[in-house]
Amino acid sequence: MSCTIRLDIDTWVGLTQGLTKWLDLAAQLEIVSTIALSLGPYKTGRGNLLRILNPKAPRSSKSILPWKRTHWRDLFRGILTPVKYASSENEIINIIKSASKKHEIIPHGFDHTYWSHKFTGLSKNETLGLLDDMVKEYQEILGKKPNACAAPAMQVNPYYWSELEKLQFSYSSDVIGKKPFFAQSRSESKQNKLLQVPITCNFMDSLLAKGYSKKAIIEHYISEIKEQVLNNNYSCWVIHANFEPMRYDSILKEVIKVLKKEIVFETLTEQVNRFITKKAI
Ligand SMILES: [Zn+2]
Repeated sequence: MSCTIRLDIDTWVGLTQGLTKWLDLAAQLEIVSTIALSLGPYKTGRGNLLRILNPKAPRSSKSILPWKRTHWRDLFRGILTPVKYASSENEIINIIKSASKKHEIIPHGFDHTYWSHKFTGLSKNETLGLLDDMVKEYQEILGKKPNACAAPAMQVNPYYWSELEKLQFSYSSDVIGKKPFFAQSRSESKQNKLLQVPITCNFMDSLLAKGYSKKAIIEHYISEIKEQVLNNNYSCWVIHANFEPMRYDSILKEVIKVLKKEIVFETLTEQVNRFITKKAI
């Protein structure tokens, strides 16, 4: 029985502080994870501005207020503080390289802010350009091609999955669901061969927004993940580098400690391989 924790890196503080906190915690608990790393410019402030101007803009969850989950530097990143890139700082590259020895690193799109707001409406060429930039920067950091992607804010478009398939990716993780399946976009006549590896758990900020206490959150994740693993032998819990490891590490520790007694923590690729070899889908 196994599950995955996917750590999404969306913001610069998440990348420079939250990632290290997560790596320390994972080492202490002796677990592996899949780390979804945002590539391209980090400019979350511009995203916040767009969201204020357009309240209907996509969000990944019913969230708590931005200033309760995002460091002030990231709230204004790209407006009052500079736009940055993971590949432009050697120290960051070294942390990611060293993390890749234990954990799986996949791209979390390119230009998180732009992708979150515009990706669904992009043309085929614009989609290809963004994916090309994503692959290039991943290669620049890790010296190899990526084999998977997790779309920022779960935003996909009619060209995305078929392009990932052409890039010979082995899976992508872009939707909420129960277990892996072969996704099919409306524009395609045949079924896509790219495996879709969904997120299965509630986001912690949505539980906090509903008023859950710390104890209730711990109980929620323990029972939610146990149930998913029992029913589908699959579970993917997404946490965010700038949030859970930085503010709620005690919750992560408690949930993982309890689950570890019965459940193995794997990377998403390990879960995918298990599904493919057992033909459980
Ligand atoms: Zn994200």
